[in-house]
Amino acid sequence: MAKTAQDILNWISNDNIQVVDLKFIDMPGIWQHLTLYQDQIDADSFTSGVAFDGSSIRGWKAINESDMAMVPDPNTAWIDPFMEEPTLSMICSIQEPRTGEPYSRCPRSIAQKALDYLSASGIGDTAFFGPEAEFFIFEDVRFDQTENSSYYYVDTKEGRWNSGKVEEGGNLGYKPRYKEGYFPVAPTDTLQDIRTEMLLTMAKCGVPIEKHHHEVATGGQCELGIKFAPIIQAADFLMTYKYCVKNVAMKHGKSATFMPKPLFNDNGSGMHTHQSIWRDGNPLFWGDGYANLSQMALHYIGGLLKHAPALLALTNPTTNSYKRLVPGFEAPVNLAYSQGNRSASIRIPLSGPNPKAKRMEFRCPDATCNPYLAFAAMLCAGIDGIKNQIDPGSSLDVDIYDLSPEELAKIPSTPGSLLDALEALRDDHSFLTDSGVFTADFIENWIEYKLDNEVNPMRLRPHPYEVALYYDC
Ligand code: GLU
Ligand code: MG
Ligand code: MG
Repeated sequence: MAKTAQDILNWISNDNIQVVDLKFIDMPGIWQHLTLYQDQIDADSFTSGVAFDGSSIRGWKAINESDMAMVPDPNTAWIDPFMEEPTLSMICSIQEPRTGEPYSRCPRSIAQKALDYLSASGIGDTAFFGPEAEFFIFEDVRFDQTENSSYYYVDTKEGRWNSGKVEEGGNLGYKPRYKEGYFPVAPTDTLQDIRTEMLLTMAKCGVPIEKHHHEVATGGQCELGIKFAPIIQAADFLMTYKYCVKNVAMKHGKSATFMPKPLFNDNGSGMHTHQSIWRDGNPLFWGDGYANLSQMALHYIGGLLKHAPALLALTNPTTNSYKRLVPGFEAPVNLAYSQGNRSASIRIPLSGPNPKAKRMEFRCPDATCNPYLAFAAMLCAGIDGIKNQIDPGSSLDVDIYDLSPEELAKIPSTPGSLLDALEALRDDHSFLTDSGVFTADFIENWIEYKLDNEVNPMRLRPHPYEVALYYDC
């Protein structure tokens, strides 16, 4: 049942909660937070918000107009399992303190606008998202962050494979063979207990949990399964997932990363995203078309495929994202759809004769995305497909990796780099902005932020592998 502001105030006084932690997502997608003594929260906090300075938040306001307000959502309240003192946590959206309007660069408010747009279009009233975020657990990661070289070093105490060679040291008797991490039992799987702890901790934070398992990569790649949910809740759950994974790993002296391709020549980490639209409690993606999809679902797929190059600037928004989208590691490289075929970027999972389970899975995204922005953008692309009846073309039911170069050339590819995706977004964003879900200012700011802070700094740094290739020239 939905919680009210009064429910939260009662909870604070009945359970003698000492501090309230307010969390919100910045533009690139990291949770930021402010912790308040319990008497600082009252009914007004849930309408006018709690003031803070937005000028130091990545990608937000200029210093001369820095006042902002964070407004907690009572339905996101849980007791933070990582804090020693009783700490009630809530997720916030950001609003303008003077007008009370949602801040146009607040990702959670953008996801709300995408949902409002879906309802206003008459197409549906609920968009379900089911993200499957993969990650690596590492023993020891060291960074060398000097001005001139910025690279990381991963300790290989776990005895993981690297470029087809096993590292020195450690007891290698039960190490998973290359690409065979999915999924032998213990003692080969050394991470079962830590994943169970991550899963059960998420449940304490209100995330509906399903399962966990080791993934294909041998260097400690894992996945926890959570249930699909409506757009905003799904993004809230994903952020809680990442918070629990990282903090449980830290508790055990390890660290976890969602970066898409931490290891050369091994599988990367994706965030396949299952999607469906419903209206009045009825699923709308079930029908008598290909793979039991409705015409609406096929048009939704048409919209995703058409806008995919631009979309990836939001769903795969880091320079490292494009090191994952290469052939040979179960990551999609071709923009096509298929039933069951995991080499296509859109897969229609087998769902049996159950209309409620009918959905499509977009396999491109990775968990470096800001989930509110990524889900909102995918929904806008799908709505554009439905409104304009975009034909997704024919399905691709052969293994794309087996096609000849001539056949392959006919299938469009995912962008080769973040720069390519950002350029595609610069050319193709009216599907995001015409509805007002994203403002033109947001898109422009996103592109400039990513160029200035990620693409160009990467281009300016000599890479260690360049040294290996060219030092002796
Ligand atoms: N790790 C793969 C990827 O990068 C996906 C493996 C799977 O099918 O779960 O997308
Ligand atoms: Mg997986
Ligand atoms: Mg999947």
